[in-house]
Amino acid sequence: MYFNDQTIVFLDGQWIKAKDAQAGLYAQTLHYGNGVFEGIRAYHTKEGAHIFAAGEHFKRLHYSASRMQIALPYSEEELTQIAYQLLEKNGLSDAYIRPLVFTGANMSLTTPEESHVFLCAWRWGKLLGDQLVHVMTSSFCRPHPKSCFIDAKVVGHYTNSILATTEARQKGFDEALLLDVDGFVSEGPGANFFVERQGVLYTPPLGSILPGITRRHVLDICQKAGIPVRQERFTPETVHGADGAFFVGTAAEVTGLASLDHKKFRRAWKNTFGAAIQSLYKARVLKEDNKEAFI
Ligand code: PMP
Repeated sequence: MYFNDQTIVFLDGQWIKAKDAQAGLYAQTLHYGNGVFEGIRAYHTKEGAHIFAAGEHFKRLHYSASRMQIALPYSEEELTQIAYQLLEKNGLSDAYIRPLVFTGANMSLTTPEESHVFLCAWRWGKLLGDQLVHVMTSSFCRPHPKSCFIDAKVVGHYTNSILATTEARQKGFDEALLLDVDGFVSEGPGANFFVERQGVLYTPPLGSILPGITRRHVLDICQKAGIPVRQERFTPETVHGADGAFFVGTAAEVTGLASLDHKKFRRAWKNTFGAAIQSLYKARVLKEDNKEAFI
């Protein structure tokens, strides 16, 4: 799925076949999860391949690397160019791009001196499919913001996401919704969260979430479309029986929820802010956002 014999990847300045690319078994990333990464989407538009919000993603990659004190010797502009070349070399335009900065050998708990930059891409459909998803409140909470840099996209943080999604799937749900350590709604394992109640959207504030790039674009779309949004804390009980809810993320795009903890939302998806935002977001990534208008 991710690569075949012909797939080309970028590794430390070289364009090589994915099947020949190697990483050391003594890498600190592999043993302790100290690495940083991004998830980026490219879309096939009328003008060709368009990497959505490339600058914002590579800026966050730099932020994450600096937080973890991992060297990243390419500028945002260079990384953007590399990402476009990657698409071209693999004949991709609708694709998911995965930059990863991983470390050299280091079995101690100190920051590594050596780092490696890897970019690969593959065709990938919607993370959660096209259907509305059934979600459960996870028994796992997001890491305490003082236990790590929660606003950085660090490899090791995703063991928490894997536990939450796995628990949800094993209990027959599609996805999990995680709370913060104080019991307020935080985010999904790989996406931010919005809920609609009585004509207002609510989304958790920055602090215990990954500050999503899609979230930022959705907030901008709402502002332009005149949809009221409040960034404030709320409990899962206030989501139960709300009018609608949705996840937003690069991979998830805008995915509506059917239910939380088996409690259905009151409005049909098509009559929610989420559905309107879904189509406005689609127009934005496809560079057709001249269609954005007040709704
Ligand atoms: N939260 C988490 C934990 C994520 O992994 C992601 C995906 N990067 C998001 C939110 C959404 O972020 P973005 O919109 O930048 O993809």
